[in-house]
Amino acid sequence: MRIGFIGLGNMGGPMAMHILEAGHELTVYDIRREAARLHRERGARWADSPMAVAAASEIVFTSLPGPKEVEAVVVGEGGILQGAAPGTVYIDLSTNSPTLIRRIQALAQEKQVAVLDAPVSGGPIGAQQATLAVMVGGDEEVYRRVKPVLEVIGNKVSYVGGIGCGAIAKLVHNMIGICMQLVLAEGFTLGVKAGVDPQALWRAVADGAVGQGLMLNYVIPNVVFKGDFDTVRFALRLARKDIGLGTELGREFNVPLKIASLVEQDFVEAMARGWGERDSTAPFLLQEERAGVKVRQSS
Ligand code: NAD
Repeated sequence: MRIGFIGLGNMGGPMAMHILEAGHELTVYDIRREAARLHRERGARWADSPMAVAAASEIVFTSLPGPKEVEAVVVGEGGILQGAAPGTVYIDLSTNSPTLIRRIQALAQEKQVAVLDAPVSGGPIGAQQATLAVMVGGDEEVYRRVKPVLEVIGNKVSYVGGIGCGAIAKLVHNMIGICMQLVLAEGFTLGVKAGVDPQALWRAVADGAVGQGLMLNYVIPNVVFKGDFDTVRFALRLARKDIGLGTELGREFNVPLKIASLVEQDFVEAMARGWGERDSTAPFLLQEERAGVKVRQSS
C-alpha cells in the first residue's frame, strides 16, 4: 500500500521503519528533516509538507508530540486534510486529546476521509521490537481493513470503540501508571526509611498480591464488573486497620504519605457508612458515587 508517516521521533521513527520493511511504499515528513535519513536511505520518499504526504498516500499516520502539533499538521495550512483524496484513512498514533480527534473526524468526514485514533503503549523499545499495544477508536469496518498494517507496528492491537475511545483508553492507562509511580514511591520510601533493605522489600511486594496483579486482573473483572462488593475475601475493617498502620508508620518515621492519607479517608468514610463487614474493595463504590457512574459489565 501507499503509506504516509508524519513525525519520525522516538516512537514514529521505528514504527515507520517497520512499515517500510513490511514492503509498503512509504512517504515521510518531519519538521526535522534529519529524522528521515535512515528511512530515505532504505527507500522511503520525502515529501515537503503533510499535505504532500497525504496526496501520495492511501493511509496516513501521525506520531506527534500532542494536540497542538496534531491540529496544525491535520487541519492547518498545508495540512493532511488539504491533500487527502476521498477514501484516504488518517490514523493518529499520538497520545492526543479525544475531543480534538473527534473534531478532526467531523471535519475529515466532509472530505470523505476516515479517521482512527490509535495511540500506542510500550515505549521506544516496544516501537523498535514491534511489540506495542495499539488501542484503536473509530469506525469498526475501517479498523478491520487497516488492522494488518497496525499489526506491523504492534502485536497487541485492540478495538476499543468509536472515535476517541482509543485516546480515552490511553489517557486512563497513563493516568493509572503515572499515579502508581507515586504510590510506589510512597511505599518504598516508607519501607526503606523504616528499616527494610530495598531489594528485600521489592521481592516481598513483587511476590504479594500487588506483584501478582490481582487488583487489575481479578478484582476489576470479578468484583467490580459484577458489583459483588459483599462476598468478603478480605474484610474492609481489616484493610482499614492496615492502611491506618501504614500511615501511622509514616508519621513515626516522618515519611509524607499524601496519597495513602487520601485513600485512608475513603476507608474511614466507608467504615462510618457501616461497611466494615463488606469486602475491602467496597470503597470503589464511593468513587462511583462521586463520579456518577457504575463500572459494570454483564457478560
Ligand atoms: P518525539 O518528540 O521523539 O517525536 C515527535 C516527532 O514529531 C519529532 O521527530 C518532531 O520533530 C516531530 N514533529 C513535531 N512537530 C511536528 C510538526 N508540526 N510537523 C511534523 N513533525 C513534527 O516524541 P515520541 O516519544 O516519539 O512520542 C510521539 C507520541 O507518542 C507522543 O504523543 C507521545 O505522548 C506518544 N508516546 C510516547 C511514548 C514514549 O515512551 N516515548 C510511548 C507511547 C506513546
